Amino acid sequence: MKIQWYPGHMAKAKRKMKEDLPLCDVIVEVIDSRCPNSSRNPEIDQLAKDKIRILLFNKLDLADDERSKLFMEDFHRRGFFTLGIDARNRASVKRVSKLIQEASQPLYEKNRKKGISSQMVRAMVLGIPNVGKSTFINAFVGRSTAKTGNKPGVTRGNQWIKLDKNVQLLDTPGITWPKFEREIVGYNLALIGSINDDILPIEDLVFYFLKYLVRYYPKAILERYGIEPEEGEAALSIMDKIAVKRACIKKGGDVDYTRVSRLILDDFRSGRLGKISLEHPGKWSDEGDEDSAV
Ligand code: GDP
Repeated sequence: MKIQWYPGHMAKAKRKMKEDLPLCDVIVEVIDSRCPNSSRNPEIDQLAKDKIRILLFNKLDLADDERSKLFMEDFHRRGFFTLGIDARNRASVKRVSKLIQEASQPLYEKNRKKGISSQMVRAMVLGIPNVGKSTFINAFVGRSTAKTGNKPGVTRGNQWIKLDKNVQLLDTPGITWPKFEREIVGYNLALIGSINDDILPIEDLVFYFLKYLVRYYPKAILERYGIEPEEGEAALSIMDKIAVKRACIKKGGDVDYTRVSRLILDDFRSGRLGKISLEHPGKWSDEGDEDSAV
């Protein structure tokens, strides 16, 4: 199923982001740790090629620890500064502030050599919808002692949050647009809630997810629903069993697939199924990803 998704406000967001990019030295890209590849927009690499790049693996609390670690190492090798965080947690914010300063050292050095005394760097947060950009910025604002207000000559309406004497952060995040290079990206983005739930039938989405769970996280099914997938058991059969256990049955006795799908999806999104990642490190560039059996 090909997913078409590019609502009007995305075009506006893209324009705004392109306008703001030149104001910043550091790009803090927020991604969802459960699917780092699907939740990034590869076009940013081109648009921000001369910037210092920080990749924040947010929602680390919901992702598979082992896979997140490997993903972070992989992106680090590709030239990104990486950090795993839970944006709701204020301590994360402190660590990011330190990382921005560390990442900016070459810039400070360059400025010093040019005789520029100001050591101020400006950073901007960006990412696709629902990865936690606003949560992260709000945590920063909570800590920040001062908003610096509008600067003359800078895009109207932009406010800068002072993180410390050397770092300022733009208070509105850049919203980037996901790229559906592969079918599987659409499913992953729907699962993490970055595209609207009405873009594809929830039953199809959760059926895909269950197939994935049976294959990679059968223990999560056992622990959450008390159902042990049998060797080669079809996802549909497991869906039926969950429906029975959780009383998702219609009046006539048929399984209510919409209800059971909603229940499973909520369990995944809230972390009640445990720490689950939707992608494998190192697999992205493989031709014919074996998970894309949809
Ligand atoms: P934005 O669209 O990128 O600005 O995303 P939001 O900041 O609005 O966050 C989307 C949802 O994710 C909200 O319900 C947040 O509470 C939640 N959220 C943000 N960061 C985290 C995190 O690190 N862990 C968890 N579990 N939830 C988070």
